[in-house]
Amino acid sequence: MPLQSMVPMLKKAQMEGYAVGLFDVHTIEGTFAVIEAAVEQRSPVIVAPFYVPRRAVVALIRELAADAPVPIAIELDHGREFKAVMECIRAGFTDVMLDASTKPYEENVARTRQVVEAAHAAGLGVEAELGHVGFDESYADVSVRKAAFTRPEDAQRFVAETGVDALAVAIGSVHGVFKGAGEPELDLNLLDRIRERVDIPLVLHGGSGLSDEDFQMAIQHGSSKVNIYTDMAVAAVATMRERLADPDVRYVQVGQAVQEAIKRVVVRYMQVFGSADRA
Ligand SMILES: [Zn+2]
Repeated sequence: MPLQSMVPMLKKAQMEGYAVGLFDVHTIEGTFAVIEAAVEQRSPVIVAPFYVPRRAVVALIRELAADAPVPIAIELDHGREFKAVMECIRAGFTDVMLDASTKPYEENVARTRQVVEAAHAAGLGVEAELGHVGFDESYADVSVRKAAFTRPEDAQRFVAETGVDALAVAIGSVHGVFKGAGEPELDLNLLDRIRERVDIPLVLHGGSGLSDEDFQMAIQHGSSKVNIYTDMAVAAVATMRERLADPDVRYVQVGQAVQEAIKRVVVRYMQVFGSADRA
C-alpha cells in the first residue's frame, strides 16, 4: 500500500492499547529487515532512516511499501534543525520529529510551532519532545535524569501551544546502552499524570535495555509508540563478529546473517508491543 503518516497508526494504537515501533535504519539490510518483519507479523511500522541519502531511501521504501499489505511510515528521528525537517518534507518522508528538548521551554515551543506549520501544510505529522531523554553515560546520575523528566502541566500547555501530533516524554528511559547504576526505572505514575492531561499519542524513546514487562506497563499506562535502535545495532555487530570468525565466510553471507539478526529483534519487539496482527 502507499506510504502513510504515522498519525492515524498511532491514534489506532492509542485507542486499542498497543504501541507501534519506530526502528532506526542506516543500511539496506536494516531497511529490508524492518519491512520484512512488518509484513511477516502483519504489523504497522515506522522506519527512520539516518546516515543515508534521503530521497533515494524514500524511493526504496516506497517501492517496498507498494508490495506490502501493512501500513509503513517514514519519520525523521530527532531532527534538530528546521533545515533538516524541510529536507525530509521535500524528500517524501511522511512524518518528522523536531527535537528541541535541550532548549528552554519557550524556544522549544517556538521551534516546534514553526515545524508544525511547515509540516502540516505539506501533510506530514509532527512529533516533538518535552523534558529530555538523554544518552547512556551522560545520564548515569539518577538525580540528573530526574531533573529532565517531563512535567505534566508543561506537557498540556506545550501540546496546546504547538499543535503537535505526538509527544516524546522523559519518564526514566535512556538512549543507547544503559550505563547508570541499577536498571532504568520508568515512572509510570508520572506517565499516568501526563496521560490525564494530554490526549495525543505519547512516545517512549530509549527503549533498548528495558524489560518486556517495562514495555507492557508503559503501553498500558499510555505510550503508543516506542523507538528502537540500540538492540538492533548490538545484534548486528554480534552477528558480524560471529560470522567473521569463519575465515572462509563470504561477504554476502555476512550481510544476510545481519539482516536476519536485525529482523529477529524487530519481530520480537512487534510481538512485545502488541502491534503484530494489527495491520
Ligand atoms: Zn530518541
